[in-house]
Amino acid sequence: MTKFVYSFEEGNKDMKPLLGGKGANLAEMKKIGLPVPLGFTITTQACNAYYENNKNLGSEMESEIFNFLEDLEKKTGKTFGSIENPLLVSVRSGAVISMPGMMDTVLNLGLNDDTVKGLAELTNNERFAYDSYRRFIQMFGDVVLHIPKYEFDRVLDEIKRKINASSDTELTVDALKDMIKKYKNIIKRQAGINFPNEPKKQLLMSVRAVFDSWNNQRAIIYRNINDIPHDLGTAVNVQSMVFGNMGETSGTGVAFTRNPATGENKVFGEYLLNAQGEDVVAGIRTPQSIDQLKDFMSGKIYNQFMEIAAKLEMHYRDMQDIEFTFEKGNLYLLQTRTGKRTATAAIKVAVDLVAEGKITKEEALMRIDPMQINQLLHPVFDEDELNKANKLAKGLPASPGAASGKVYFSSEHSAQAASNGEKTILVRIETSPEDIEGMNMSQGILTARGGMTSHAAVVARGMGKCCVAGCGELKIDEERKILKVNDEIIKEGEYISLDGNTGNVYKGIIKTKAIELSGNFGKIMQWADEVRRLKIRTNADTPRDAKTAVDFGAEGIGLCRTEHMFFAEARIPIMRQMIVSDTKEDRIKALDRLFDFQKEDFVGIFRAMGERPVTIRLLDPPLHEFLPQNDDDIKVLADNMNIAFQKLKDKVLDLKEFNPMLGHRGCRLAITYPEIYQMQAKAVITAAIEVSKQDGLNIKPEIMIPLVGHAKELEILRKLVDDTAKQTLKENSCELQYYIGTMIEIPRAALTADEVARYADFFSFGTNDLTQMTFGFSRDDAGKFIDEYKNKEIFENDPFTTIDVKGVGSLVRTASKLGRLEKENLKLGICGEHGGDPKSIEFCEEVGLDYVSCSPYRVPIARLAAAQAVIKKNN
Ligand code: ADP
Ligand code: MG
Ligand code: MG
Repeated sequence: MTKFVYSFEEGNKDMKPLLGGKGANLAEMKKIGLPVPLGFTITTQACNAYYENNKNLGSEMESEIFNFLEDLEKKTGKTFGSIENPLLVSVRSGAVISMPGMMDTVLNLGLNDDTVKGLAELTNNERFAYDSYRRFIQMFGDVVLHIPKYEFDRVLDEIKRKINASSDTELTVDALKDMIKKYKNIIKRQAGINFPNEPKKQLLMSVRAVFDSWNNQRAIIYRNINDIPHDLGTAVNVQSMVFGNMGETSGTGVAFTRNPATGENKVFGEYLLNAQGEDVVAGIRTPQSIDQLKDFMSGKIYNQFMEIAAKLEMHYRDMQDIEFTFEKGNLYLLQTRTGKRTATAAIKVAVDLVAEGKITKEEALMRIDPMQINQLLHPVFDEDELNKANKLAKGLPASPGAASGKVYFSSEHSAQAASNGEKTILVRIETSPEDIEGMNMSQGILTARGGMTSHAAVVARGMGKCCVAGCGELKIDEERKILKVNDEIIKEGEYISLDGNTGNVYKGIIKTKAIELSGNFGKIMQWADEVRRLKIRTNADTPRDAKTAVDFGAEGIGLCRTEHMFFAEARIPIMRQMIVSDTKEDRIKALDRLFDFQKEDFVGIFRAMGERPVTIRLLDPPLHEFLPQNDDDIKVLADNMNIAFQKLKDKVLDLKEFNPMLGHRGCRLAITYPEIYQMQAKAVITAAIEVSKQDGLNIKPEIMIPLVGHAKELEILRKLVDDTAKQTLKENSCELQYYIGTMIEIPRAALTADEVARYADFFSFGTNDLTQMTFGFSRDDAGKFIDEYKNKEIFENDPFTTIDVKGVGSLVRTASKLGRLEKENLKLGICGEHGGDPKSIEFCEEVGLDYVSCSPYRVPIARLAAAQAVIKKNN
């Protein structure tokens, strides 16, 4: 029989897959002697068994749970359902990977009309007992019976108004009793059942509800956004209660062992007196900073907490996010986990921990999520612009960054506008897990309520989104879709700007500027460079992009596309002329005029890159992409070229293809019109000669021929390019090293790579096309169904984002092996979108490619990911 339940004394931190993160860490804290209320964990395996068993716990699991409950009764000396000394528990979900705010918790379970009286007597605190009871009914109604929260909130507000209470701590016993009656009516009305009095029934219903919550909509969305597998399941923790709502010497709080926004080495947290559970994060009252605990009970709790925080950080060797409660001056720990942090904080903490001798450089590198670095590479507000800006208000700097966008007051509308390409700012009184999608799609998030650990703040930091929280000056009317602050009124669709570093909110759009890449960031990058084997190149077509990439640490260009160069206003007419030419002579005439432009492009790129390697890809797209598409444009071109409209129109129609992606493009163009590649090759070599001479550099261009599927194609075109290059060098009486290679992007080329390699100095895997052709998916149409493929778990990832290791990866492996069999020193790289994706980079390391090439802003991500790939491989 499988063991489905473990007491906290039986577990430890390495049992996360079975006990979930929360359960494993509760057990670990117990193990190292910290004050943790007793309890037990129902495993993730039990959750999966529950689903396999058609959402039934089954009698075996139930009796196992009750055995552990009995054990808990013995250890605590309290009895479940007893009036004299009732045992109360919390039922807490705990997934393997922490999912903040996604799953649900029930507190004070075990209370009913009888036990509440016992509790009141036992504690001599009637108010506390009934406060706990009303909280329990509300949470049970919400989490277990799925009754909307506002039903309960409405009653709470109504009663508060009636007795003139401004805060929930002022509720009197009578008010609480009244409330409990009304809450029960809500349950009766909304769920059609009586509130269950029997504690064991309450427990089983709650356990089931936690299991069910694994598959609620917001949990599924969260897992999709964060790439968390759907089959892990959640554990359930049943833990005896301690009470932060027992009066003014009780309270509850959350704290990070270091500042999660900046990484500063100072405990950062918030607490509330006479409060329970999630009151702190829910933004019901404004919490106090943990520093103020110093003055409370002569610092007793503060000192004890600081000692424990240090101990936990030492033990886990990383920044911790801790939940605690104190009951009548006694401190208890309720949770610890690795703290989520901004990229800035992640980097500072990692560098500091190395300096403190707590972790190694390699561990530090592994601590940083490469994708999170994105946050740092994005601009901050330009200071001059900022000084001129119209400041509306100031809130808490909950998550750094700078964002401008149109105001939307609902997650749904914000997401909608964003999917239409608008930049949006989601503005809410406070956010809840239902807002995830709108938050994810927005540029930034602004809330009126809630602290630094509110839902909005925590989720935004995780997403790397700019967020200003708790901006109390704002009067938000979500219904009328307006925002009032001082005398200003901002309507939906108007622009505001958020500064997540200061908490300032501005009217209008503010310009941004690029950020500093030195300091701790520079240190991490330097450590990454010491470890990685893969070279990092960039995909860049302009000197400006090339320069950005070099600033980010690019070591070369892996893909310089030449087609973009022909779209400029001065060039497109000539390009069009070339395309519609009837004779080779006319085509050459047009190409001659393009030559100078093309040469200048390459001069600019070579200059920007110095002696770093540059791979230039010859013309790739189908020609009709350059042609005018409507009659008006055709007419203009016909007039310019002095030919009849109809003749030109026929030509355009003639060039139209049924399936351009598989049509007359890439090297096929040069097989039919060799003069195109001749012109380009001549321009590359001439530019290289010019820069070599003028700048005293040794430029060694790499010329890449796209879309080869058959070795013969490359044989012919290599000769063509080679002859042109030699001819050009001869005319300039010059010597210069150059390389000719190909892209591997057609499955046939991969499968016959040994033959192809005979004519190639290098291979560059064009994994966008290779993915498209391996799956037979059109890149431009796949968006219509890929999401559904992910939902149905056919794909774990979008294969255009993360390389499909099994299929496409197998072609890359085969081609690498065959290619190097033919030519030992064949240079191998990748230049598809995958070149900037950490998981794909891990694959490239494993296959032994020489470099990856990615867009300029991805270069630092790739540097770190390449280092991590080496570390993973060695472990
Ligand atoms: P989440 O996963 O959303 O953080 P938790 O299971 O941690 O949910 O529960 C939320 C809060 O409820 C905790 O931070 C803690 O304040 C409170 N809580 C949970 N269990 C207990 C308990 N046994 N005694 C007192 N408070 C508890
Ligand atoms: Mg919660
Ligand atoms: Mg928690």
